[in-house]
Amino acid sequence: MYYIINIPSNIIFLHFKNRNGRPARNLEYLHSNMKTIILGNGISGITAARHIRKRSDHDIMVISDETDHFFSRTALMYVYMGHLRFSDTQPYEPWFWEKNRIELLRSRVENIDFQQKRLFTATGHILAYDHLVLALGSQSNRFGWPGQDLDGVHGLYHYQDVQAMERHTPGLNRAVVVGGGLIGVEMVEMFHSRGIPVTFLVREPDFWNAVLPPQEAAMVSRHLREHHIDLRLETELKEILPDAGGKKCTAVVTDKGETIACGFVSLTVGVSPNIGFLKNSPLETSRGILVNEYLETNLPDVYAIGDCAELRQPRPGRKAIEAVWYTGRIMGETLAHTLTGKRTEYDPGIWFNSAKFFDIEYQVYGDIRAQLPDDQTTLYWEHPGGKKSIRINYLSASGRVTGFNLMGVRYRHEVCDKWIRKGAHVEEVLQNLGLANFDPEFYPQHETELVALYNRVTGKNLILKQKRGLPAVLAFLQKSA
Ligand SMILES: Cc1cc2nc3c(=O)[nH]c(=O)nc-3n(C[C@H](O)[C@H](O)[C@H](O)COP(=O)(O)OP(=O)(O)OC[C@H]3O[C@@H](n4cnc5c(N)ncnc54)[C@H](O)[C@@H]3O)c2cc1C
Repeated sequence: MYYIINIPSNIIFLHFKNRNGRPARNLEYLHSNMKTIILGNGISGITAARHIRKRSDHDIMVISDETDHFFSRTALMYVYMGHLRFSDTQPYEPWFWEKNRIELLRSRVENIDFQQKRLFTATGHILAYDHLVLALGSQSNRFGWPGQDLDGVHGLYHYQDVQAMERHTPGLNRAVVVGGGLIGVEMVEMFHSRGIPVTFLVREPDFWNAVLPPQEAAMVSRHLREHHIDLRLETELKEILPDAGGKKCTAVVTDKGETIACGFVSLTVGVSPNIGFLKNSPLETSRGILVNEYLETNLPDVYAIGDCAELRQPRPGRKAIEAVWYTGRIMGETLAHTLTGKRTEYDPGIWFNSAKFFDIEYQVYGDIRAQLPDDQTTLYWEHPGGKKSIRINYLSASGRVTGFNLMGVRYRHEVCDKWIRKGAHVEEVLQNLGLANFDPEFYPQHETELVALYNRVTGKNLILKQKRGLPAVLAFLQKSA
């Protein structure tokens, strides 16, 4: 006997039962394809879907409650700032999904029966899967401050947060942004772009100094003040005050006892895996969903990728949760190999990240820490204008390069990556530093200044052999090892 469990759109599921009414076996489909459901349409879920499609004929369904289509979360700020329309942040045209037979469902999954391999959505769908990929992303942290649920208090993570910012913008007297990290500084710039005065509360002595070395952290703090941001360092939020009606935020109180009137409070004190609804399930979780090096959870045929995945054994020097775009992309592609027959270990590669602090672009490759480890030496050059810097870290004993930190200067990802991977000596790197330079043509080049600095510090007499130029870069990248 069978009954139709659900018809989400064009897929019909048949459910076979035995005499005692229990499922006789897993759900069967009218057609026999493997059914993969991906929960989350962010970079990790969509990368997995695209690569499963490239490599197989599986039925693929992607479910998300946030938006109909995948968009670039990292570009959300530019939508508010008017540089992009929301549709411009969507890398694929709406026809892409049907053409590639990736079925999309806009709904919230509220419960999962892992034993029966079924999902239950807020819109009443019951969906069966063979493989389930959890790509749930993050949510903004809130630490229980009085007033944190008032109208006008928001984080910035989901598209709906930008819509909330829009709603509150007309007539806004001041925004207070709490939390000195990457999303905080984006919100500061967003409000600033609309001419709204911003107060920025940062608990640490400098902006993002848990991640940036002291000179770079100080550079960003200076730059923010140059843009007339009311930056309050070593200042924490104590409470958010309501208006007379008790509903809307009207001011914040800091731990210094100041009251700052504002119509909007941005809480940007980090993010956490968005896994609340899974907490009392058989799925093993800690901060995130625990996975092994193959991105497998403790349950058969259930995987987790992207921001919500927590590696049980991260590689040395790496974090168990790396909530960045590139991690999601690599995890999505890796898992697609496993799900299409080639079990593949997740390799996070060399650490890489990039951002922008108002006018200062930031890139990091490899191991750059706020506090220099004892076994490393750092070579730090800063432009007299105070808006550009280059830092190269290397092992003191061997000279092996471990990381690059760039502010206001662009270096090529592949070149830095290759140097770090192959353990290039700092002097080899310095003499060929032009290979890394990725600034636009006619921009000043600072590689000779860096070499001169190294010579001054070490008493050596190196010269810059390789200037900027694509043919040399291609030759370098093609050379093995
Ligand atoms: C403003 C901002 C700027 C950023 N800038 C950078 C940057 O410059 N560089 C960088 O590397 N990283 C950046 N990041 C981080 C990066 O965007 C994230 O690491 C990445 O988008 C996470 O992708 P994901 O696929 O893991 O999850 P997400 O993109 O969060 O996708 C998960 C989706 O699943 C949905 N979902 C969750 N639970 C359910 C459920 N139960 N039912 C249905 N749907 C559900 C969510 O609503 C969401 O749409 C930024 C993040 C933000 C918020």
